Amino acid sequence: MAGEPQADCLFCKIVAKEVPATVVRETATTLAFRDINPQAPTHVLVIPKSHHPDAGSLAAAEPEAAADVLREAGLVAVDEKIADTGYRIVFNTGSGAGQTVFHAHAHVLGGRGLDWPPG
Ligand code: IMP
Repeated sequence: MAGEPQADCLFCKIVAKEVPATVVRETATTLAFRDINPQAPTHVLVIPKSHHPDAGSLAAAEPEAAADVLREAGLVAVDEKIADTGYRIVFNTGSGAGQTVFHAHAHVLGGRGLDWPPG
């Protein structure tokens, strides 16, 4: 059922504390933790605690949780002191766009120059 934890999902296991993560923020509906393979000095993932395969399906099923993810992404940027210099929120969607974990997540990237367009 949409939103329910999936046994084979890495990020559901992080939510359940079955897999360790360096958590930087947590709310009733979201978790933010450092990416294990950082692509910038700040690279934090913000996920909904409920399972949806990507950002679009999250927003369609639980728009309030999608808004919570966006708000937390902005607060991560403030906490990490990258809000003033500029940062990027990225939702890779689909394997062709580089998505490798099919539990919706926002990448919050900053602390270095960020090229446009992204690769
Ligand atoms: P995607 O490629 O957009 O799906 O992003 C998945 C992200 O999860 C990648 O940036 C990975 O480095 C990151 N990742 C994979 N496993 C872990 C983990 O166990 N802890 C934290 N981040 C992870």
